[in-house]
Amino acid sequence: MKTIRYFSTISVSSAILIALVSAFIPSFIGCSDTPANGSPVASLDTKFNAKRSYDFLKEICDLGPRISGTEAMKKQQKRLEEHFTKLGGVVRRQEYKIKSPETGEPIPLTNMVVSWHPDKKERILLGAHYDTRPYADEDPDIQAARKLGGLIGANDGASGVAFFMEMAYHMSDLKGNYGVDFVLFDAEEYIFDKERDRGLLCYGSKHFAADYVMNPPKDYEYKLVVIVDMIADKNLQLYYETNSLRKKTSREAMYGIWKIAKDLKIKEFYRVEQHEVIDDHLSFIDQGIPAIDIIDFDYPHPSIPYEQQYWHTTKDIPENCSGESLAKVGTVLLKWLEVYKQ
Ligand SMILES: [Zn+2]
Repeated sequence: MKTIRYFSTISVSSAILIALVSAFIPSFIGCSDTPANGSPVASLDTKFNAKRSYDFLKEICDLGPRISGTEAMKKQQKRLEEHFTKLGGVVRRQEYKIKSPETGEPIPLTNMVVSWHPDKKERILLGAHYDTRPYADEDPDIQAARKLGGLIGANDGASGVAFFMEMAYHMSDLKGNYGVDFVLFDAEEYIFDKERDRGLLCYGSKHFAADYVMNPPKDYEYKLVVIVDMIADKNLQLYYETNSLRKKTSREAMYGIWKIAKDLKIKEFYRVEQHEVIDDHLSFIDQGIPAIDIIDFDYPHPSIPYEQQYWHTTKDIPENCSGESLAKVGTVLLKWLEVYKQ
């Protein structure tokens, strides 16, 4: 397996990547044969319910595009607040406003925090974004995509939400060294124009991390931030993301998670560094907080001559996702949360 190299052209993404340029396409294709023999989830000793998580993913997609500040986003928030509260989570909302880059109107944004074992002073933040991109700007038919008014974001949006909805069943009983907060970030990709709106990338997590540093909580601290993004691809491939490896604490945590996957014989965690991604984890790294990103950035891209093109297109739909992929990530993280200690 080759490590893919990228030019440093910034391309906007949910996970905003350092864009792949066609000169390197051959090496990328060379990687596409790796996940063919994935481990069947049925063989795993796991509490994480693959089918239920996939049903959640479909339910969230049925809300339609969950663009920041829209009615569909409000419906999603209400559904999630009820869900997590019912399962014993303590839910709070961090609310703030942003100016729409399109109209200048104020747009209400909300990061949703769900705390488990809130009495624990040392905590892990597990995060994902729960907004979807305002339109499918990588779609081959951009005009048609604009008219559709947003993408479904089954993998890029709903996968993180569905993951936490299922994880919530297993948190109250979890034995571990740290308390856990799920944080669902708004406005990770409130991007209408890639160049003009570049400063808005990962806005929700930037707001959250800056507030955490400016107004540090008196009674707890985050030891580590773990972001999940695009983890429901049917053809799951998880590599060590480059920015996550830069600092010792996060690097060791990442290696520890991948080692647990190896011990569990979950083959989709490749112990190879690949992809440098701008995602919500960077908002924390920039504030000096250790953070890693678990992301499948090999979800088929329009910039790559795959037969299918899903990422930031109208084809990012449940049919291209799998509950088994969510279950593999969940099984690994549940085990890791039980044993992780800095
Ligand atoms: Zn995206």
